[in-house]
Parts: sequence; structure tokens; C-alpha cells
Amino acid sequence: MKTIYLASGNAHKLHELQAALEQAGLAVKVKGPDTIGGMPEVEETGSTFESNALLKAQGLREFGPSEGWFLADDSGIEIDDLDGRPGVISARYAGMECNDEANNEKVLQEMKDFPESDRTCRFQCVLALIGDGFEETFAGACEGKLLSERQGDGGFGYDPLFLPDESELTFAEISLDEKAKISHRARALTKLIDWIASQ
Ligand code: IMP
Repeated sequence: MKTIYLASGNAHKLHELQAALEQAGLAVKVKGPDTIGGMPEVEETGSTFESNALLKAQGLREFGPSEGWFLADDSGIEIDDLDGRPGVISARYAGMECNDEANNEKVLQEMKDFPESDRTCRFQCVLALIGDGFEETFAGACEGKLLSERQGDGGFGYDPLFLPDESELTFAEISLDEKAKISHRARALTKLIDWIASQ
């Protein structure tokens, strides 16, 4: 059985991936970085989601067995009126020590003069899978509008400000099942699963 080492200590992401692989009938075991000594410190110095996802997957690969596969993701939100910011620095937009609240506040301030009708943005996610002799990336996006006020209590990150084109509810209001149908991460994951199934 193939093993994928996931470059994330997030148990939720691990279970989500394992469940998606099983649902697709693929015999692949997903393991966390703790099973090979922990996640190494990787500086996300890339200017694209793709390059940062590859950096993380490559960083973990140095610790793992040569026959393993190594998977990492990078994601964020791009706002057109802000020339694509926060983009790859979505997690730390308001500073290295910031939190979701501070990031949302910074974006709201920067966007305050832009009209509601014209606040297009998208969540982006890239998954990078590497193994012996190959490097593959899978991108997913979810288009929407950036609201001028928070709406909803669920989710994380920029969810309360993001109204996807495919829903009347923000990412902080829709159910996890609904989000799993339209999210950037889900779309990238579907491509990854299709690729693994084709091997
Ligand atoms: P990463 O951990 O470097 O991929 O950073 C992802 C950051 O992008 C998160 O900390 C959030 O701020 C933002 N982000 C990515 N995906 C989502 C999402 O589905 N909802 C809300 N925020 C997200």
C-alpha cells in the first residue's frame, strides 16, 4: 500500500484526505509528519501558492522514506481591488503574530472605499505531491465577493467576509458539507484524487 506523508499537523486535513481516498476506492494510507520525526521549519518564501506548496512538500520529503509520497498545500484569498493581496501572505497579512480577526480588519479597512458591487475575489488552493522522480501540483479556486461586513460565526480565516458566487450564504454560514462541495480545497483535492486514481 502506498503511503502519503502530509506536510501538516492538522488532524482534520489528514482525516479529510484519508476519507476522500477511501471514498474513491484508493488503497493509500495518509500519515502525519509526526510519524517521520515532525514537520521541519519551512520558510514560505515563494511568490505563488504553487511554489510554497512545493517548498513544504520538499521540506518534508527530506525526512521521509525514499519510496513515500509527500503532500503539502498552500492556500489563501486574492482580492482583485487589492491587486491580488493578501494572496500567499493571507495567514499573516496583519503581521507575523496576527490572528484571523486582525487579518479581516486589515482587509476591511483597505477595502472600505470600494463599492459592494465590485469586490471580486477568490480563494485559491494548490496541493503539491512529490515522490521519487515526480512533482505534481493541483489547483482549485472558489470565486466570490468580499463583503463589507462580517456575516456568520462558523469557519475560520476570511470565511465571514467571503460570499461565494454559488451561494447566498458566506463561508462562515454554510454547512461543512456545502463548503466541501464548492471550496477551493475540495476542488484541488478532486484533481489530486483523479491523478492518483489514474496511476
Ligand atoms: P496556509 O496555511 O499558508 O495555506 O494559509 C492559509 C490562510 O489562508 C489561512 O490562514 C486563512 O487565513 C486563509 N484561508 C485559506 N483557506 C481558507 C478558507 O477556506 N477559509 C478562510 N480562510 C482561508
